[in-house]
Amino acid sequence: MADVTLNDIVSLCKRRGIVFPSSEVYGGWEATYDFGPVGAEMLHNLRNLWWKEFIQSQKNMVGLDSAIISHPRVWEASGHVESFADAMVEDLETHKRYRDDHLVDEALGIVSDGYSLDELDKVIVENKILSPDGNPLSKAKYFNQLVEVKVGTTENSKSVAYLRGETCQPIFYNFELVQQSSRQQIPFGIGQIGKAFRNEIKVGPYFFRTREFEQMEIELFVRPDDWEPHIDRFKKWSIEWLKSLGISESKMRLRDQEFKERAHYNKVATDVEYEFSYGWKEFQGIHYRGDWDLKRHGEFSGKDFTYTEPKTGEKYIPHVVEYSIGLSRLLLVLISDAYTVEEKDGKSRIVLRLDPKVAAYKAAVFPLMANKPELVDKADAIYQGLLKQYPVAWDARGNVGKRYYYQDEIGTPYCITVDYESLEDDTVTVRDRDTAEQVRLSIEDLDSFLAEKLA
Ligand code: ATP
Repeated sequence: MADVTLNDIVSLCKRRGIVFPSSEVYGGWEATYDFGPVGAEMLHNLRNLWWKEFIQSQKNMVGLDSAIISHPRVWEASGHVESFADAMVEDLETHKRYRDDHLVDEALGIVSDGYSLDELDKVIVENKILSPDGNPLSKAKYFNQLVEVKVGTTENSKSVAYLRGETCQPIFYNFELVQQSSRQQIPFGIGQIGKAFRNEIKVGPYFFRTREFEQMEIELFVRPDDWEPHIDRFKKWSIEWLKSLGISESKMRLRDQEFKERAHYNKVATDVEYEFSYGWKEFQGIHYRGDWDLKRHGEFSGKDFTYTEPKTGEKYIPHVVEYSIGLSRLLLVLISDAYTVEEKDGKSRIVLRLDPKVAAYKAAVFPLMANKPELVDKADAIYQGLLKQYPVAWDARGNVGKRYYYQDEIGTPYCITVDYESLEDDTVTVRDRDTAEQVRLSIEDLDSFLAEKLA
C-alpha cells in the first residue's frame, strides 16, 4: 500500500464532510476548522465514549461543565498571565513568526522546548539556522498564548478577560464546591470536556495544532504521598482505552518529558505520542502537578483549600494527577490510523477502518433502485427500525457500487441492500466494509447480527 500523506487525509475529510476549513466562503481563517456532518458524529461518539469510560463508570469521578470566560484572576493565579509563553522568532524579511523550539528541533533533530531565550539564540547562531523561507531570524522573544477578550458594556481595564487556556483551571477553583456537593472523598477526580483557546504562534499541520480546540481532562485529587500509583494507573488505563478505540499499539508510545520541556506546574509529565506521517507527536499528557494549583488559587482568592481526612482528621492541600487529551487531536490520530488504500482486481478503494464505536454510522441502508417504491418502502422500514438503536445512514443515489465506496470512505462498517429478492423472501445483502464480502441474511436476523458485530 502506498504511504498515506496528510494531503490524502485533508482531501478525504473535506470530500466526505468530516472536516472543513472554517469560513471557507470568506477565504478561510487560519488554522480554524469546522467539523462537518460525519466529523460531528465522530466527535460526539468520542466525547460519549470518554465520558462513559472515565467519569460515569467510576465511583470516584464526577463531571463539571464550567464557563469558558472566568474571572481574570484565575489566570493570574494559574501562572498563565505571567508565564504561558512560547519563545518566538521572526523571519527578518517576510516577518512571518515561528515557534523557536520547533525551528531548532526540525533543523537539529533535538527537543529544545524549555530552552531559555539565550540558549535558543545561541543554538540558532551556532548552527546558522534560517527561516523556512531561507531568511535570517530575529532574536527570540516570549509571546503569551492567552487569548484576551473584552467583556461587558464599558471599555476599561476591568473588561479584559481571557478565554480559558486549558479546561482544568475551573476544576481547581471549584474543588471544594464539587467535593462537598458530591460528597466525594480523596482520592477522587473531576473531569471536564470543553473548548480551550491558545494564541499558538505556529499552527498545524492541519488541525493537529489549532488556536481553538477541545480537551477532555481529569484532575485527580490525591494525598501528597499517593500520586505515583495514580500516574502509573493512568498510563496503563489510557493506553488500554486508546487500544479499545482501535488505534494500532505499535504506533503509540509513552515518552517522559525532560525537565526543561515541562510546564511550570508539572513535577512529572509523560506524553502519549502517535507516529503520524510527519513524525511522533504528543496527543495526550499525564502530569503530576503537585499542590501548585490549589495553593495558588488559595493565595490569590483568599480561600483555604485545605482538605481534612474524615477518618484521621489529617489536614493537607490535595495534590493533583492530571490526565489531558485533545479531542480533535485524538480524532486526527484515529483518522490517520484508520485510513487505508486497498488495491484489488486493478481497482483501488479508500477505506476508513474505524472501530464501529467511533464510526459516524454503524450501518447504511440502501434500496437497490430509488425509483421503485416497493424497494424504497421496505428499505425505509429497516432503516427506521435500526435507527431506534444506532445512527444509521440512508443512501438511494447513484448505483450500489458508488454507495459502497462512499460508505467505505467514512468508515461505515456494514451496508444493507434491499433488492428484488428481498421483496420475495424477506432477506437482504449485508456487505462488510473491511472484507467487501457480502452475505445474505433474513431481515429478522439483522438485529442480532449487528448486535454481535458491533458489540
Ligand atoms: P503541545 O506541546 O502540543 O503544545 P501541550 O503539552 O501544551 O501540547 P497540554 O497543555 O498538556 O498540551 O494539553 C493537553 C492536550 O491538549 C495535548 O496533548 C493535545 O492533545 C491538546 N492540545 C494542546 N494544545 C493544542 C492545540 N493548540 N491544538 C489542538 N490540541 C491541543
